Amino acid sequence: MGRIAYVNGRFVPQGEAAVHIEDRGYQLADAVYEVWALFDGKLADAEGHFARLERSLAELKIPMPMSRAALTVVLKEAVRRNRVREGLVYLQVGRGVAPRDHAFPIDPVEPSIVVTVKAVDRAAAEARAAKGVGVITTPENRWGRCDIKTVGLLPNALAKQAARERGAVEAWFVDELGFVTEGASSNAWIVDRDGILRTRDTNANILRGVTRLTLLDVIREDGLKVEERPFTPEEAKSAREAFITGAGTLVLPVVSVDGDPVGDGAVGPVASRLRRLYIERARATAI
Ligand code: PLP
Repeated sequence: MGRIAYVNGRFVPQGEAAVHIEDRGYQLADAVYEVWALFDGKLADAEGHFARLERSLAELKIPMPMSRAALTVVLKEAVRRNRVREGLVYLQVGRGVAPRDHAFPIDPVEPSIVVTVKAVDRAAAEARAAKGVGVITTPENRWGRCDIKTVGLLPNALAKQAARERGAVEAWFVDELGFVTEGASSNAWIVDRDGILRTRDTNANILRGVTRLTLLDVIREDGLKVEERPFTPEEAKSAREAFITGAGTLVLPVVSVDGDPVGDGAVGPVASRLRRLYIERARATAI
């Protein structure tokens, strides 16, 4: 069965779906997006992603295109029409279509909306998590508002490509003080030599990952020690464990940084346990 996309009010076969050539998302990256993991056809961490969507839109002064409730109906209908149970839902909301001009259109335009759904092979994802993945590091070169989840992802795309060319799955950006900010599409974590979980604080120029936030809760409930405090790539290499979080990767163990092993180079017990606990929580609370 072909995939179905939702585009500006209509469900259409994805191969025929199209946007206007003067859509500001297309020309100026004047659009934001969200990605929900789908467990058994339900949206994981739904509330957190809606809250961040509303915040991203507000920061750019783009109105919410419809209420949360209406948007939920659209997302769920997209999921139903695609018959996907385990996967990802992508939502993009842009300022809309207007003759090309950097400044906002003077007369208000309707926001553009696109929704797509894709299936994820959970067994393959579990196999990858059991082996762990490599990351590379790359100098931070993004703009100063990485807290807004915009589609302006060129530095992230280039970093990810560099990772792939070096046999890694993620690139960690490193700021001018030598600290890891986050991954190209994930938040970065370590279990340091003292057994303390560490991830960058959200005063830094990073995306406030929804998975990160839920996992902080899971970690505290589990009684583990956690600090929102920066770490360097060297600290990651000498850490006991490292991992990344995101709607796409969930909690994914990292076993090498720039080709050097993290700890003993094997997937560690903390990351594996947190992956299991996160997935249990996300499945149980999905809507
Ligand atoms: N950081 C960046 C740059 C991302 O693109 C993403 C997800 O796409 C994340 C972090 C993780 O965010 P979340 O857990 O909300 O998916």
